[in-house]
Amino acid sequence: MLQHKHQDLFNEPACAKNQAKDEKTRKKGCGGKPLTPGNAAGGCAFDGAKIVLQPITDAAHLVHGPIACEGNSWDSRHALSSGPMLYRTGFTTDVGEMDVIYGGEKRLFKAIKEIIARYDPPAVFVYQTCVTAMIGDDIETVCKVAAERFGKPVIPVNAPGFVGKKNFGTKLAGEALLNHVIGTEEPEITTPADINLIGEYNVSGDLWMVTPLLKKLGIRLLTSITGDARYHDVTKAHRARVNMMVCSQALINVARKMEERWGIPYFEGSFYGVKDTSLSLRTIAKMLVERGAEPDLIARTEALIAEEEARVARELAPILPELKGKRVLLYTGGVKSWSMISALHYAGMVVIGSSTRKATKEDKARAAELMGEEGETMDNLPQRDMYRMLKNREADIMLSGGRTQFVALKAKTPWLDSNQERHNAYCGYDGTISLLKEIHKELTNPVFDLVRTPAPWEV
Ligand code: SF4
Repeated sequence: MLQHKHQDLFNEPACAKNQAKDEKTRKKGCGGKPLTPGNAAGGCAFDGAKIVLQPITDAAHLVHGPIACEGNSWDSRHALSSGPMLYRTGFTTDVGEMDVIYGGEKRLFKAIKEIIARYDPPAVFVYQTCVTAMIGDDIETVCKVAAERFGKPVIPVNAPGFVGKKNFGTKLAGEALLNHVIGTEEPEITTPADINLIGEYNVSGDLWMVTPLLKKLGIRLLTSITGDARYHDVTKAHRARVNMMVCSQALINVARKMEERWGIPYFEGSFYGVKDTSLSLRTIAKMLVERGAEPDLIARTEALIAEEEARVARELAPILPELKGKRVLLYTGGVKSWSMISALHYAGMVVIGSSTRKATKEDKARAAELMGEEGETMDNLPQRDMYRMLKNREADIMLSGGRTQFVALKAKTPWLDSNQERHNAYCGYDGTISLLKEIHKELTNPVFDLVRTPAPWEV
């Protein structure tokens, strides 16, 4: 059954990446060869599912498996909460040898019971992992029985690590939401200006750079799936008028199926950079008006955009001349492979290369178009080549995740964390200001002049 479910997801019609493959390759699944159990480098499916669902901040997230799986996934992202903190508690059944021999279902049931008795969360998410999937623990049935017994939603997330890579796990998490959460409750009121954001996880507070803008326009965010989300809000997401998909790949199945089931149109947008933030706000307003919101929303949105763009220009005026013409190597991936470029172009910076790992065909095309002849898209850049580029000063700064920071530092090149481990929010107008100020700080840090000066004994 699980295999059929997986096959179905590989055929997701709205997933451009899967559709671009021939049938034989598609059958092999997302992201190429699945990981071997125990080898979670780059993220297994379980990891991806947890990344998507853990930002539901008031729910309990229980990992059914060995403690190492929970250790692998806990706190790997700074998905912030404005209230409940239960999502930060690591729950695991911590199965041992005896459970492997006799099965861990009873242990799982007891763990759910204990969590509900001690924390009374609105829901418990139960994550399958490699070991418990291989010994045949039926988490779907245990969750069903527990939900009936304790009168609480207990949601199985059947994404054991070995079924694929992180990206595939994100889609399986989306399926769990579609099958067990979204549409299970009704909102008290609805308005013609209700929206959801899909694929926005509030990394380092990104979402909070956008919510004040929506509030000013009178647009109600029913829920974000799932950054800073509350369980009961996600259950009501099916009453939104428009869905904005923030990440192009992760939850495309959720956006498409919500359109199919509840007639909610969706669009793909980005809140990175001034231009794209304005475009996303414009698109939301236009689509909401088409679906019954007050027509003056469009004029109010334009007024807000003009005001915000002027503010960004004012605030960045002192540093823009120093950023102009600086060359950037972008090593991120996914939607950021192109969305970050537009934020950098705002400051007149030149992107000499953008890695398009985990990016869709459209993402790659957009990145290539935005960079023009000045830069190239790279599927993978071996660290050796990355070092050479930085050492030869082909780029003035590199933006990437923590794993490659030492390559930049070894090459005595400024570096800025642009991935999930970062501590600053880079979305929306305020996020763009923050991003460009951080880049400026790195580029003008006097330490780089010092470390590049030959030591006295080298002269
Ligand atoms: S689910 Fe499997 S691949 Fe993922 S961390 Fe656990 S053992 Fe490793």
